[in-house]
Amino acid sequence: MDGQIRHNWTIEEVRQIFDLPFMELVFKAASVHRQHHDPAEVQVCKLISIKTGGCPEDCSYCSQSSRYQTEVKASPLMEVDEVLEIATKAKAAGVSRVCMGAAWREVRDNRQFDRVLEMVRQVNEMGLEVCCTLGMLTEEQAKKLDAAGLYAYNHNLDTSAEYYETIITTRTYADRLKTLENVRKTGITVCCGGILGLGERAEDRVSLLHTLATLDPHPESVPVNTLSQVAGTPLQDQPPVPVWETGRVIAAARILMPRSVVRLSTGRAKMSVSDQAMCFMAGANSIFSSDTRRMLTLAPSPDYDADRELFSVLGLKARAPFKDRETSCNVDCEDKAERAGESAPVSSLA
Ligand code: SAM
Ligand code: SF4
Repeated sequence: MDGQIRHNWTIEEVRQIFDLPFMELVFKAASVHRQHHDPAEVQVCKLISIKTGGCPEDCSYCSQSSRYQTEVKASPLMEVDEVLEIATKAKAAGVSRVCMGAAWREVRDNRQFDRVLEMVRQVNEMGLEVCCTLGMLTEEQAKKLDAAGLYAYNHNLDTSAEYYETIITTRTYADRLKTLENVRKTGITVCCGGILGLGERAEDRVSLLHTLATLDPHPESVPVNTLSQVAGTPLQDQPPVPVWETGRVIAAARILMPRSVVRLSTGRAKMSVSDQAMCFMAGANSIFSSDTRRMLTLAPSPDYDADRELFSVLGLKARAPFKDRETSCNVDCEDKAERAGESAPVSSLA
């Protein structure tokens, strides 16, 4: 039955879903979406680049790698107060999750990490979900973040295991999976997804979806990014991803991971209202919004005003923080009581 939570998907089953005629796929995804989520609710997240540029990794899409000459200027780790100021504005605009990104290969046990832990503590105390994306983590570091109140850890697989080394050579897919495993040893939820438009084949998209959908448990958040082509990086001339291809991946992710929050992420700024409506219909229920019109660094983002208008036109409302500690699912919910928790109020973006 569509909408069941499964972790034993075969690659052939994933391919069959992925290859469905587009309208059939979106209809199925929209039906699954309604079993597990309020379709009018969309999570609004704010990205903060707490440490920008100068990263030693060679991710061929990234504006922050020190190996490429891009417009990004490296800057040191932000002060806690700066982060709190941005988070306060974000909360007032209806944001429920603050995602703090650092251009690090991995976390080191030093005073900078202590400062990040303090940021996590203080933003969490504001009643916001806090997510970090800091590169690779040990189990001990994950436990420290958990103790500080971290709600989610983002660590994207980006593409298929097969295509990964074409995009990144300074770490392996296994390294990525190991960090996810370390996060799973704590109470922190997992945010893990990919990027479309890296030159991958449809088969790589199927393979990435299969890897994500066979993780047990599924990542609670699944960001679907499309490449933001950054001048100076090896992928600067990649062609844009057609919107129906983004919609196809979102819809497949929704069917395969019915309870996860699927984020329409980098690339949304280039979409019309109707493109975005199609993605919400296909099961996307999370976005990044920003006062700076930027995601982390160069990639454009719609701003709070544009999203207020978007929500008003489409009849959407901002999802409250900590919503997935309760559950709105109607099927397969033996664990409903276990997942139930407090839902904090949030001012609606609409
Ligand atoms: N250094 C950490 C890491 O790599 O996990 C965190 C920061 S990194 C900027 C966070 C994520 O942003 C990456 O995993 C990647 O999926 C996404 N990203 C980075 N550059 C991008 C681009 N040009 N287009 C689309 N997504 C991008
Ligand atoms: Fe560094 Fe992360 Fe960018 Fe890769 S994606 S270069 S690890 S900041």
